[in-house]
Amino acid sequence: MKCEKCGIEFKEQEKREKAFVWQGQTMCEECLFKMGVSPEDALTWTAFQHEQEDKRGI
Ligand SMILES: [Zn+2]
Repeated sequence: MKCEKCGIEFKEQEKREKAFVWQGQTMCEECLFKMGVSPEDALTWTAFQHEQEDKRGI
């Protein structure tokens, strides 16, 4: 999995800690900051996954 902005690759553990989803885009914390978005305004990758599961009714 990669950051859609800078293309940096997330390792398995980094994905949970450093990947964020904002407006449908997966990005790293650094790109989030560059866009002026607070991490609190974005979903963490983990939270995003849980949200997707909820939508599927699992
Ligand atoms: Zn990035």
